[in-house]
Amino acid sequence: MNDIRNYIEDKILSFVETPGQYIGGEWNSVTKKNGDVAVTFALAFPDTYAIGMSHLGMQIIYGLLNERDDTACERVFAPWPDMEDALRSHNIPLYSLETFKPLKNFDIVGFSLQYEMLYTNVLNMLDLAKIPLRRQERTEEDPLIIAGGPLAFTPEPMSDFIDIFFVGDGEDKLPQFIECFKAIKQTKRLSRKERIIELVKDLNNLYAPSLYHVTYNSDGIIKRVEPKMAGVPSVVRGASVSNLDKTYFPENLVVPFVKTIHDRISVEVMRGCTQGCRFCQAGMTKRPNRIRSVDTNLKLAEDCYLNTGHEEISLGALSISDYPHLEELMRRMGVIFNKNNVNISFPSLRISDQLANFPSHLNTVRKSSLTLAPEAATTRLRKVINKDISNEDLFDGVREAYKEGWNLVKLYFMVGLPTETDDDVEEIADLAYKVSSLRKEVKGSYGNVNVAIAPFVPKAHTPFQWEPMVTLERINDIKRTVMSKIRRRNIRIKFHKPERSILEGIFARGDRRLGSVILEAWRGGCKFDAWDEYFDYHKWSGAFKRTGIDEQFYLFRNRNEDENLPWDHISSGTMKQFLIDERKRAFEQKYTPDCFVTGCPDCGACARSRHYVKAC
Ligand code: SF4
Repeated sequence: MNDIRNYIEDKILSFVETPGQYIGGEWNSVTKKNGDVAVTFALAFPDTYAIGMSHLGMQIIYGLLNERDDTACERVFAPWPDMEDALRSHNIPLYSLETFKPLKNFDIVGFSLQYEMLYTNVLNMLDLAKIPLRRQERTEEDPLIIAGGPLAFTPEPMSDFIDIFFVGDGEDKLPQFIECFKAIKQTKRLSRKERIIELVKDLNNLYAPSLYHVTYNSDGIIKRVEPKMAGVPSVVRGASVSNLDKTYFPENLVVPFVKTIHDRISVEVMRGCTQGCRFCQAGMTKRPNRIRSVDTNLKLAEDCYLNTGHEEISLGALSISDYPHLEELMRRMGVIFNKNNVNISFPSLRISDQLANFPSHLNTVRKSSLTLAPEAATTRLRKVINKDISNEDLFDGVREAYKEGWNLVKLYFMVGLPTETDDDVEEIADLAYKVSSLRKEVKGSYGNVNVAIAPFVPKAHTPFQWEPMVTLERINDIKRTVMSKIRRRNIRIKFHKPERSILEGIFARGDRRLGSVILEAWRGGCKFDAWDEYFDYHKWSGAFKRTGIDEQFYLFRNRNEDENLPWDHISSGTMKQFLIDERKRAFEQKYTPDCFVTGCPDCGACARSRHYVKAC
């Protein structure tokens, strides 16, 4: 440990940007003597420290594993290219922040896969760690490479590089995984392959790509995905925690030395969302809603505050407005935290007839910006995507927010949605103007409106998983149309990079043949693809050409509903038939109400369904 630590302190840190991100030792970080534990786990986030340390899931897994006496969990993040150059030129392997131990010497390296544009960073980190990139090339001495996070529900594009995907919620199943791993490590003399088989047979939310055989039809569509042996599940069911009040939550959040994206406490008040937006993968794979009680949330918020000293608490949920006790929670948080000037924040509010009531009772919230996600600008298109919101509710809510002192409204839209017309696109600009003008009615001057627009990427496990994506040309046309209509300086438009959306569109519904493209792109210099300063579409195009993989096959095909999809063998519990029914209702412009407040449309994900199969 000290060799690497001393060396980088002497020779490297003073030459790289933000050296504090490479030395660990933060408040609440945990350093154990590796000789005292049975299992060593490197928790790897394939993006920068500033982003990874802002991610609640990282803090949960870190705390969960380090609570165990038998496990040492240490963190590692993707080094920024200046640090990467230094590590490579000094021949230092990628190391963990807690004990400066090379990743190669851990039992397990677990990657958090949050978005597709991190794939090349995973390869880069493995390479920096001197661990073979492809799973077939790893030896008995190499650590087990696992991956979790939302992309474990669509594992195939990374299946050449990951030994085991951990699918679904980690809080209950990860400790079981560690128990199994420990037992295998301590008591059995098994080969790498045999260990993987044992683990998969013990825990049914694990997907090991090496244990499945994939065959294709002559048109390139998947013929079959089959387990290679008995005891390996034909469908892997994602893990799901049922009671958030009894689910682990870290009260000792690690407090970074350096500035991160979110320097704050994040308390997850609710998991899941059953609004049923038809484009939303999280809304389909994280069902049903699970609520953390007000008392538990208050206790967690208070403990986290006392243990960290952060001055902001964010209430996290996919749809915070659906938390049934939000008013009570805000009121009681105000009583506890107002006196300490602690700010309460949350991601975005749902537009509903309740929105106009929120601004007045959000007096504990710093009035920096009000974030709303209409997603589509016309009622017709909102019916297609199952967003039951009206412009009147939006305007009433914004008007009240302006009255209460908000000055900036952020609006999120998607373009390229199924059935979209030019009218739907043009209406985005009109809506932005109206929202800005509402402030003039109330306060005498136009409001500032930031409009964020992202091309729609059809996602696996959603009712739109069969839809073709819009072309790059169409996205660029839409971008020009919207930009040309905005002439007020208070309205700012931010458009997600179209080429990046196209790439996301390929991998979001990709199969295992894409592994060769990811490898080739990384070899060609791709990394930090989520960052504008490093994203290079031409390098990616070159990788597709050299590997002979046709992007169009993944992007623009109209898939048949009976087609074998590359993620059909991974289940969240939500049934394919429900997605098919919802797709039909989308084209009929029929709204499906939220099952949290009305009847159950039978998606299969919880015990209210006639078809429910409990995840075990
Ligand atoms: S089974 Fe019914 S109640 Fe349960 S999440 Fe699905 S739609 Fe909602």
